[in-house]
Amino acid sequence: MSANIDDILSAARQHTNEVITPNVDAWNKAGIWPRDASDKAAALGLTGLYAPEEWGGQGLSLGDGIQVYEELGKGDGAYAFTLSMHNICTFATCGYGTDAFKAEWARDLTSGRKLANFALTEPQSGSDAVNMYSRAVINGDGTWTINGAKAWVSLAGEADVYLTVVKTSDKPGHQDMAMIAIPKDTPGLSFGPRYQTPSYDFLPLAEMYMKDVTVSEDNIILPPGQGLQGALMAIDIARVSIASGCCGLMQTALDTALSYAKNRKMFGAKNLDLDGIQWMLGDVATELEASKHLYRAAANALGTPEGPLMAAHAKRFVPDAAVNAANTCTQVLGGMGLLKPYGLDRLSRLAQMLRIVDGTTEVSRVVIGRALQKRARTLPDLPVPKGYGEE
Ligand SMILES: Cc1cc2nc3c(=O)[nH]c(=O)nc-3n(C[C@H](O)[C@H](O)[C@H](O)COP(=O)(O)OP(=O)(O)OC[C@H]3O[C@@H](n4cnc5c(N)ncnc54)[C@H](O)[C@@H]3O)c2cc1C
Repeated sequence: MSANIDDILSAARQHTNEVITPNVDAWNKAGIWPRDASDKAAALGLTGLYAPEEWGGQGLSLGDGIQVYEELGKGDGAYAFTLSMHNICTFATCGYGTDAFKAEWARDLTSGRKLANFALTEPQSGSDAVNMYSRAVINGDGTWTINGAKAWVSLAGEADVYLTVVKTSDKPGHQDMAMIAIPKDTPGLSFGPRYQTPSYDFLPLAEMYMKDVTVSEDNIILPPGQGLQGALMAIDIARVSIASGCCGLMQTALDTALSYAKNRKMFGAKNLDLDGIQWMLGDVATELEASKHLYRAAANALGTPEGPLMAAHAKRFVPDAAVNAANTCTQVLGGMGLLKPYGLDRLSRLAQMLRIVDGTTEVSRVVIGRALQKRARTLPDLPVPKGYGEE
């Protein structure tokens, strides 16, 4: 029997209230991944959400499990994003890993004793992921040797294993792409200096270098030919997870603005009594409701033919709504909105980051545009009214 989603959501809420919200500013100041916090999340079952119970996971559907990031996103969107990536890698390990790899890693990942992340982006390629230089070649004994560099690797040096997408030949295109798990302590694996980020500095981000990194064939998560397809499936789950986290962020921004505006005296009344303020916050509330419906519908569509398009709709709409929400709520507080203790400036920067990671807003528009072209091809031609377009 899988875990009860209501219990898991209530555990995530408790984790946000007791661990994330009170500590996130200190984490950012320290600039260190809070491993003790992710250990606590693990103890609540938040590191094996979709993994089957036989491997120690919670056995939740994507549709249910993705709601966890809405709760965690109330505390911090970058923390929610990082746990979402770990859960996706854990799901991929349990679903596609070799028996030997699962035997070694699955329980450590579902229990959160070990953390995992995903490495696709390279210094020269983000949105255009196929423009990839990292190469894996098979050796005579069946092992694989990998050379190349990845960029923007989250949990760089902190995660214990990196599910890395590589090409296995010099042929153009993606037909030869594979996904290979590289443990952190593999000789030849190293990390560059940490990127400096203003509002989520506790998340280690860096380049990852692979110099003659050799792993067993047991570490092949997706063989050549399936790497890009697998990466895109992972990214679809990530896009919806990000939209879920953004809803938490919007709720926190809105509640901060309401808590302030209900008491701020002005013009003989309260800030929240002004129609203009109610309309501004009302629009945030409407966009939040729409965002919740959209990401939940997208989460339920994952794994169906509509999944990629629904994920693109959610990733296109919700982070933009989160940017608007954070900025509008800052405006409602006036100058106070810019002060650190209220956290709204941090929320604006997090929302902007969530517009970029795992497929930018523009890339989502490309996916939606292609779907529209496909639909247009199924529609009858519109007859041109007489007198138009004739020589
Ligand atoms: C905080 C953070 C964490 C990350 N973690 C990871 C990680 O763990 N693993 C990993 O592999 N990657 C990670 N990434 C990388 C992330 O997925 C990329 O940043 C993202 O895919 C965009 O790539 P890029 O930054 O290279 O931008 P580019 O691809 O260079 O895009 C630049 C601009 O061009 C726009 N653009 C691109 N294509 C089109 C188009 N067809 N039409 C119009 N405009 C277009 C983009 O929207 C963007 O505005 C992370 C990024 C961030 C910010």
